[in-house]
Amino acid sequence: MTKESAKKHVLRAVPSPNSSDTPEPRFTEPELCRKCFGSGMEVVPGKGARLCECRRRDAHSVRLTRARIPKRYDKCHFNTYDHRLTESQKRALKHAADFAQNFPAVDQGLLFTGPVGVGKTHLAVSIVKGLAERGFPCLFYEFGSLLKEIQDSYNPNTKSSELAVLTPVLTAEVLVLDELGASKPTDWVLDTMAHIINTRYNENRFTIFTTNYPDERASDGKETLEDRVGVRVRSRIFEMCRTVNIEGEDYRRNYDRSRRR
Ligand code: ADP
Repeated sequence: MTKESAKKHVLRAVPSPNSSDTPEPRFTEPELCRKCFGSGMEVVPGKGARLCECRRRDAHSVRLTRARIPKRYDKCHFNTYDHRLTESQKRALKHAADFAQNFPAVDQGLLFTGPVGVGKTHLAVSIVKGLAERGFPCLFYEFGSLLKEIQDSYNPNTKSSELAVLTPVLTAEVLVLDELGASKPTDWVLDTMAHIINTRYNENRFTIFTTNYPDERASDGKETLEDRVGVRVRSRIFEMCRTVNIEGEDYRRNYDRSRRR
């Protein structure tokens, strides 16, 4: 199609205002970036050509979509984390921000432990967003949903689960596994967890875990992380991650005024 005939095509597609017909879709020209005029490259005087900001922004939003962060964590970022509540929150924020800033020059992943609502997931999500901004693709999974997706993809004929679900989890450069230990530790759950964690361990890939289960048994005798994931997985995680314990009260209940209105 020549430029002229394309223009006519556009005009024909716009319905007349008095037309009683079902309106056809209106074709409008996409707005061109003023810096690169759609070429994707911009010329910086004295420095040469570089990838235009519009393409970098697009790549960033693609990385965020692929990271699969649930919508409810949209507002989670380092700068929305209130670290003035407890010393441990301040330390946790620093460990999280250091990881996001220094990756891949880091030695270990992170294991955030602590009671419900102290911001473990908030920080894990902030790491994913921080890394995405720096150009590193990551993947976020609430562990229970991951197990469900693997189960749902099970094919009784081949007696195996879809690799399409598992492969990105095994190969993601940085993976967040949220709420480790929350699922009932059946043999299948323990085997699946061990497979994921061992594979990532063997390939030297970084993983960020969050869990509500404490590492040490408290005097109340409540279950520990080891009770929920088994001795072997716990010891692997211990090697792969720095443990960052966060103390405090449930933020949702005590501080989040927008929820209490
Ligand atoms: P956890 O994973 O420890 O159970 P979440 O990270 O899911 O807790 O936090 C629950 C809610 O409270 C989220 O909406 C989170 O953004 C918010 N929240 C928790 N701690 C903080 C904090 N220190 N500053 C700001 N928001 C917080």
